[in-house]
Amino acid sequence: MTTQKHFPHINDKMFAENVALSNIARQVGTPFYCYSNTAICQNYKDYQQAFSATLVDQETLICYAVKANGNQAVLSTLAKLGSGADVVSEGEIRRARTAGIPANKIVYSGVAKIESEIEYALSEGIFQFNVESEPELELISQVATRLKTVAAIAFRINPDVCANTHAKISTGKSENKFGVPISKARLAYNRAASLPNIKVQGVDVHIGSQLTQLAPFEEAYKRIALLVSDLREDGHDISVVDIGGGLGITYSDEHIPSKQEYATIAKAQLGHLNCKIIIEPGRSLLGNAGVLVSSVVFVKTGEERQFLILDVGMNDLIRPSMYEAHHDILAVDKTNTELKTYDVVGPVCETGDTFAKARQVNESKSGDLIAIMSCGAYGAVMASTYNTRMLAPEVMVKENDFAVVRQRPTYEEVINADSVPNWI
Ligand SMILES: *Cc1c(COP(=O)(O)O)cnc(C)c1O
Repeated sequence: MTTQKHFPHINDKMFAENVALSNIARQVGTPFYCYSNTAICQNYKDYQQAFSATLVDQETLICYAVKANGNQAVLSTLAKLGSGADVVSEGEIRRARTAGIPANKIVYSGVAKIESEIEYALSEGIFQFNVESEPELELISQVATRLKTVAAIAFRINPDVCANTHAKISTGKSENKFGVPISKARLAYNRAASLPNIKVQGVDVHIGSQLTQLAPFEEAYKRIALLVSDLREDGHDISVVDIGGGLGITYSDEHIPSKQEYATIAKAQLGHLNCKIIIEPGRSLLGNAGVLVSSVVFVKTGEERQFLILDVGMNDLIRPSMYEAHHDILAVDKTNTELKTYDVVGPVCETGDTFAKARQVNESKSGDLIAIMSCGAYGAVMASTYNTRMLAPEVMVKENDFAVVRQRPTYEEVINADSVPNWI
């Protein structure tokens, strides 16, 4: 069972911090995403403390991976704490800048940066491009030369280690599309040093997401440390090591190493290099800082099983159908203490629209509220309007207060986004 301490049950009623979820549901309607501001801040501070205590002489920069949850209220919260951003598109640079994250704390990852995006990133003056291929490097050099500026780069190195996570979120094996193979890294850096308007400054690695063990990080960082030594021997001035994100969270009963243990591994493998260390956590900052609240539409008795049919679907939360992901499912108000076994499903016309099979939940009836836990990361950001269902609104709670931080769109807004050409 996940422990989301900022979403406790008190006298069988579920709260987000000090606000009853039923109270938010009454005012906002269901479904909605709900984030705890305090949980986000606490997670950020845990990272800060772990890394500043461990890597005392080295500057550490936390670059929050915006793709996990790009809501402006989330980004503003992190910006105020001093966070930087790891971005994967021009849109995410714009989101980060709008929330007040300074350009010199932005690192730009992604395998397919296009010319206009590179131009925008250079004009903003971001801290570093994490370059994933030689063709990308050449394009960055051309654009920087045209703009009469210099692009600071690191190569994202594919260290060929197995992250022991779901295949769709594993990125550091040689068969994955990400990064430059470590065997070709020295050549790539020599090429970079020879190109105009490129400043070689760092090395970057990110091996996957939802890692539950430290050993893959340790192996990857060991390989990166050796590479940094080689690169320095080749005459490159390497002052930054970006160690990526990927630390997992507890969705059900996974034991996750602490941020302190993670920082200790990083120090042991990389501390002697005297580099600025960048970390890019996403899920581990946001995942357990959010829940998705829905209502039971019907309880349907099939031939072999009972279905709990919710007003939230795979369009709102795709993780169960895309990654076979487990999310705990809890009655918001445990009015009935008897547990029943349900298949928990959504309204979308796809068999894949199933959140859980044969799951024990407090006996529920039409209209009851159900919380899908651990939905703060890779939840709202991956939502779509499939079946012309309105995107679920997002709510943020801080102590006794809550605010809608993204409204539910109206049907008019969604339908009027289309246009019909006059030749129809
Ligand atoms: C997705 C991603 C992250 C964040 O991963 P989490 O598992 O959410 O911590 C960090 N860096 C890069 C390059 C990514 O693509």
